[in-house]
Amino acid sequence: MLVCNACGKKYPLSEPIWHCECGGVLDIEFKSELNFDIIKKRPPNMWRYRQAIPIDNDHNIVSFNEGFTPIVNYSVNQKEIFLKLDYLFPTGSYKDRGASILISKANELGIKKVIEDSSGNAGCAIAAYCAKAKIECEIYVPKDTSLAKLTQVKAYGAKLNIIEGNRLQTAQKALEDANSVYYASHTYNPFFYQGTKTLAFEIFEQLDFSVPDYLFIPTGNGTLFIGAYLGFTDLADNGYIDKLPKLIAIQSQNCAPIFKQYKENLKTSQRVTELHTLAEGIAINEPLRANQIIDIVKKTHGDILTVNEQEIKDALIKLSLDGFYVEPTSASSLAGFLKYKPTTKSLVVLTGFGLKSNEKIQHIVENY
Ligand SMILES: *Cc1c(COP(=O)(O)O)cnc(C)c1O
Ligand SMILES: [Zn+2]
Repeated sequence: MLVCNACGKKYPLSEPIWHCECGGVLDIEFKSELNFDIIKKRPPNMWRYRQAIPIDNDHNIVSFNEGFTPIVNYSVNQKEIFLKLDYLFPTGSYKDRGASILISKANELGIKKVIEDSSGNAGCAIAAYCAKAKIECEIYVPKDTSLAKLTQVKAYGAKLNIIEGNRLQTAQKALEDANSVYYASHTYNPFFYQGTKTLAFEIFEQLDFSVPDYLFIPTGNGTLFIGAYLGFTDLADNGYIDKLPKLIAIQSQNCAPIFKQYKENLKTSQRVTELHTLAEGIAINEPLRANQIIDIVKKTHGDILTVNEQEIKDALIKLSLDGFYVEPTSASSLAGFLKYKPTTKSLVVLTGFGLKSNEKIQHIVENY
């Protein structure tokens, strides 16, 4: 069932809606089955968790056999940690996890056209999966979006709708138009999170059927953060783990509304003035699911912290010198780890490929 987070109203999964009639966001209630004796024998991609993914018919699946990204050991400041290379996806970011399931669902619903708004990677991912499914796609972007991402969206054949305004105004325009078209939104649409949750399953398998004590995730709207929580909860519900990792959300100090709400113990989500940040992928000044994210932090005994521009640069340079070419947003999770200094088993997720922000990286490297 689709369940409204605000009023509790339920809808069948086959209803082509992306929010409740009361305006609240929807979550999915679904019995997720995991049996690793069977899963282990399947091909190494995220669809090996088929029984945990709420798509009815296999023939509706839209996939590039993505996922099962590598985990590598990494030694930093005399500490041994794990890096999950989640930038190794067909479109260059973990957003493919969500897009594969969301567009499979759109396909299953017989939808012919979708719209999505994004400042970059989510738009690229939705456009690519629509190209594969032959679903018409229109992506709304703010006018200052980086060229590489615009080019990528266009190359996939999606229509670009460039909005004269900021990220928030872009989302508002998409929301208006979503009255008549299916909204493949990575923030609203709950199917997206049914894809990002596969991160947790992979970590569990790759760490020899165990989970880390701490997980560091760059967080703006929380699409990976919330997904990770759903995945670990599925593992617990299926009896595979009895303790969830502490989930640590990393925000940019220049745009940190969830951090502010959490630290000041406020009831409602905060809209902050967004200053420029290198971590463009998490520069969300009024996140829709802030309360959900804070809830998860409390439930997992996790935390929220901010990193500043210098800390992001330091982490990015460190990673590049060790051969990991990621975008600055991605480096913020390592920056968060270095600041938090946990003493037990930690995993840092690297979320987006460096080739997406060559200009920014060039500037950092030349002026470091
Ligand atoms: C989307 C994205 C994130 C996480 O963003 P959310 O707004 O929390 O979903 C992190 N890193 C990269 C590279 C991204 O594209
Ligand atoms: Zn409702």
